[in-house]
Amino acid sequence: MVRSLSVVVPCHNEAENIPLFYKEITQTADFLCQRGDISTYELLFVDDGSKDETLALIKEIAAKDQRAYYISFTRNFGKEAAMLAGFAHCRGQYAVVMDADLQDPPQLLPEMFFILNNGQGWECVATRRVDRRGEPPIRSAFARLFYFMINRISDVQIVSGARDFRLMTRRMVDSILSLKEKSRFSKGLFVWAGYRTYYMDYSNVERSHGNTSWSFWKLLKYSLDGITAFSVAPLQASAIAGLLFCAGSMAAVLYFVIQKLTVNIPIQGYAMLICSLFLLGGIQLLGIGILGQYLGKIFIESKNRPDYVILDAHLPLESSPDNPCELEDLS
Ligand code: UDP
Ligand code: MG
Repeated sequence: MVRSLSVVVPCHNEAENIPLFYKEITQTADFLCQRGDISTYELLFVDDGSKDETLALIKEIAAKDQRAYYISFTRNFGKEAAMLAGFAHCRGQYAVVMDADLQDPPQLLPEMFFILNNGQGWECVATRRVDRRGEPPIRSAFARLFYFMINRISDVQIVSGARDFRLMTRRMVDSILSLKEKSRFSKGLFVWAGYRTYYMDYSNVERSHGNTSWSFWKLLKYSLDGITAFSVAPLQASAIAGLLFCAGSMAAVLYFVIQKLTVNIPIQGYAMLICSLFLLGGIQLLGIGILGQYLGKIFIESKNRPDYVILDAHLPLESSPDNPCELEDLS
């Protein structure tokens, strides 16, 4: 039986890393072929609107290596879109997503295959960073807070430190592809799809070259997207807060009216009035803001725009029966 592996590599400005990554991944994949875990493999680079030499380097690799393919987007659509394009066009019985910066060490792949094939019915071997060496402490603290929150308020349980770097069976890839939502939060989608997943621990590896494309604000937005994609708890919380405040204010009104009627104490306290006005105004705005987040999501989904636009691609012929225009080399 032919057992093929697809390596999906989202790349955004990774020119310095591509040659190194290519060298390491081919070494490891060749080893997997020799050991008999796979009989063949393909590398699918997805150039996500890079502004440096990334695409040129990928094209160079694809020209000399028949196992290498690429897709190039018209602009930067984000890692989620790049991963989706990779899944949609890869053909392997197994697929693995790997960062081009070598933060997902190819050396872990043999062990991942060993676990996947150990007869215990694993469909996915995911990786989990057990430390956050080299990461700014503030970013780590927010990441921990995010995992704590999302696991509290949503049905999916995302393992803290889980990476997108995971080896999956074709069945699982197809399930991920069947999820058609636009604002994608893959860490949650992988868990939502189910399947028996083994989490393999490893120590964080720093980027081989360049800087992460995730600024603090981008990460914060991505986290909010993740929470709103997998939970309606913020909506419920704002409704409950609204209810509590209504009940509280009614009780206060009753209290003052009764006081006035029984002991005839004049109603005082402008300061308190102003404070409660601000408090209530703030809470209302927060509620509207939360509502807006979900409304925005519906707005984006309802437009049903494609997740990405392909400018140039070199893909295997049988990879995309639904998209004949993407079949040949578009360059
Ligand atoms: N990436 C991408 N599009 C983007 C940002 C990142 O395809 O808009 C790729 C990037 O080239 C890398 C992977 O996604 O291969 C992870 O990105 P990065 O290393 O910046 O993230 P981190 O590892 O810091 O979470
Ligand atoms: Mg990285």
